[in-house]
Amino acid sequence: MDECIFCKIVAGEIPSHKIYEDDDLTAMLDIMPVHPGHTLVIPKKHFANILETPEDLSCKILELAKKIGKKVVEEFGADGVNITNNTHPAAGQSVLHVHFHIIPRYENDGLQPWPHKQYGPGQAEGIASKLKMEE
Ligand code: AMP
Ligand code: ZN
Repeated sequence: MDECIFCKIVAGEIPSHKIYEDDDLTAMLDIMPVHPGHTLVIPKKHFANILETPEDLSCKILELAKKIGKKVVEEFGADGVNITNNTHPAAGQSVLHVHFHIIPRYENDGLQPWPHKQYGPGQAEGIASKLKMEE
């Protein structure tokens, strides 16, 4: 994709701090980290988001994200890690090339969790039946 900033990073056309590379994947520091060590894992091939990414590649992305998650905990003494993906701008996706964030987290680091709501009486049954899937 000509105008995709992550494709340009993969192609070496713009600089980045890469921490890992193989035939399929690149991992690099996020340019505006939530905490130092905030890393992005991306496939080298362009897919707009995780819903459009083939299964084998999705698995590889997640496995690398897990390894990097362990590493940031070790290297930065993080108390936890968020491994997250935003899909579509409504969900916070600003770069439309699939990526997973690996964000080191610390006790009392001040970041707020998502606000949660409660289902009304009988509402969860209808929602669950809409989402029910076969094996
Ligand atoms: P998202 O909002 O989930 O699409 O995340 C996109 C992320 O890409 C943001 O956290 C940005 O800080 C990061 N980002 C944008 N441009 C670059 C870049 N050139 N190098 C590294 N990270 C970038
Ligand atoms: Zn791209």
